[in-house]
Amino acid sequence: MLDAVVPLAATSTNARLYDALIIGAGFAGMYQLHSLRDRLGLSAHVLEAGDGVGGTWYWNRYPGARCDSESHSYCYHFSDELVQGWEWSERYPSQPEILRYLNYAADKLDLKRDITFGARVVAARYDEAENLWHVQTEQGGHYAARYLITAVGCLSSANLPKIDGIADFQGKWYHTGEWPHEGVDFTGKRVGVIGTGSTGIQAIPVISAAAKHLTVFQRTANYSIPARNAPLTDDFKKYVRENFAEIRDVMRSTVNGHPWRIADRSVLDVSDEERNEIFEKAWERGGLRLRAEFRDVLTNEEANRIVSDFLKKKISQIVKDPAKAAILSDIDHGFATKRPPIDTGYFETYNRDNVDVVSLRAEAIERITATGVKTSKGEYPLDIIVFATGFDAMTGPLFNLNISGRGDMALRDVWREGPRSYLGLQVVGFPNLFTITGPGSPSVLTNMPVAIEQHVDWITRCIADMRKSGQTRIEAKPDAVDDWMVQVQEVANRTLFTKTLHSWYLGANVPGKPRVFMPYIGGMARYRRICDEVADKGYEGFALTR
Ligand SMILES: Cc1cc2nc3c(=O)[nH]c(=O)nc-3n(C[C@H](O)[C@H](O)[C@H](O)COP(=O)(O)OP(=O)(O)OC[C@H]3O[C@@H](n4cnc5c(N)ncnc54)[C@H](O)[C@@H]3O)c2cc1C
Repeated sequence: MLDAVVPLAATSTNARLYDALIIGAGFAGMYQLHSLRDRLGLSAHVLEAGDGVGGTWYWNRYPGARCDSESHSYCYHFSDELVQGWEWSERYPSQPEILRYLNYAADKLDLKRDITFGARVVAARYDEAENLWHVQTEQGGHYAARYLITAVGCLSSANLPKIDGIADFQGKWYHTGEWPHEGVDFTGKRVGVIGTGSTGIQAIPVISAAAKHLTVFQRTANYSIPARNAPLTDDFKKYVRENFAEIRDVMRSTVNGHPWRIADRSVLDVSDEERNEIFEKAWERGGLRLRAEFRDVLTNEEANRIVSDFLKKKISQIVKDPAKAAILSDIDHGFATKRPPIDTGYFETYNRDNVDVVSLRAEAIERITATGVKTSKGEYPLDIIVFATGFDAMTGPLFNLNISGRGDMALRDVWREGPRSYLGLQVVGFPNLFTITGPGSPSVLTNMPVAIEQHVDWITRCIADMRKSGQTRIEAKPDAVDDWMVQVQEVANRTLFTKTLHSWYLGANVPGKPRVFMPYIGGMARYRRICDEVADKGYEGFALTR
């Protein structure tokens, strides 16, 4: 094993040397540490910017933050012991409960002793002569390792829109993805929320209940389906305990890692009456499953239009003020071609007297002033502004690491025109670097713990196989990357996702970001098969050397 102290070539300072360095201590980094340390017996270490484990659930503490995956599916599945030792309380767990769960897993697996908290990685450089990665943190830590594994998440780099005047604002402002741990008191305050994606839709009902007045600034109107969150019954908890293996098998065999299968029928094959009945039932059941009622919601324009119309009508039925209803249902994209939110009383919130919605299509924000937000039509006085404006998704957290590979090639430059990887796992020119849920893999299109476990298991197997055969270097081949990128694009083009040009899947929420559909949409189960075949064939498409 490599565990030792070596001089850092670039800085001539001593660095701690490990077999593997992992960046990030969310679902991904924690499981990767456990796999390499406890299964392979390697010296592995995690560097984490936050002061605790949890990743997404450590940072996103905004009011109403909760999971859209159902609790029994949103957890580790690799260990029966972990599953049996934990009981979820609600259908959709809240942020505090998920954070407690991840601390429970970290403690059970005794992970924290191999994590350095408060360590933000600011540079990672591959040294070809040594075949080592050198990593530096903002806090002055220097580390080196044979393998570098990024577990930085797809949604961990907060996206703050560049609006003039933000520094002039005399009130308080917050980004939902970097929420203060002590919380925010909205009592008696005039609050503005900018953004109506999944996060805004969760936060708006909760903030409106506390604030004196809430103004929602909506750029893109959105669909939302009631979550119908509720405490789990004893019967359901028993069902999960007794049938977990089966539930896990279903999650691993489906397109998106959720614990249900997609019905094999077309929206167009059923009568209007039957279809309506199916939609109404799905609406009453709540949650993400509505889109699984038919196989062609995301591939057939007519099928998608029918579902979209059903959901738009629901908005007009719930929201009593016709002017507000018109703004909220003026949706310009097909259902689920952007991340589909689910909610608890979102549209109902607009029936409150203290809530207004401003369409930024009709009146663009001009600037933030000392006292509020100024649009092209007027000024909105505010005490607090909440930016629910999402993330520089998928590539943002990787670029923040300032990774340079062979010949000091910067990842940022290599991906200038958009991310290019083999299986979302490796990049040409960056040997022994693995990117968990990297662009080019199913990642954000799935119930993510399923995608994370598949990546971690694959990387662990790959490193174990390399050690068995005495190989010390693995790097994706250029041809394999070319072929994979064609596949990623081809499957995306067969869906309606690429028709919605302003989604963050395409990078459209960040000015200047190339418009490339980043995740692999061919389905989690198919992707798993492809990765397994690649490994079975001796890591086809990768160059392995001693
Ligand atoms: C509000 C919200 C709701 C979500 N809901 C769902 C859901 O319902 N279902 C679902 O499947 N997914 C959901 N997701 C996606 C969620 O990110 C994943 O499910 C999962 O938590 C990702 O785990 P991860 O370990 O890959 O990344 P993260 O949880 O994002 O962890 C990454 C870690 O890396 C650290 N890090 C990043 N950069 C650096 C650096 N330079 N140096 C050191 N450390 C660094 C971060 O601090 C963070 O702790 C949601 C995301 C958000 C933001």
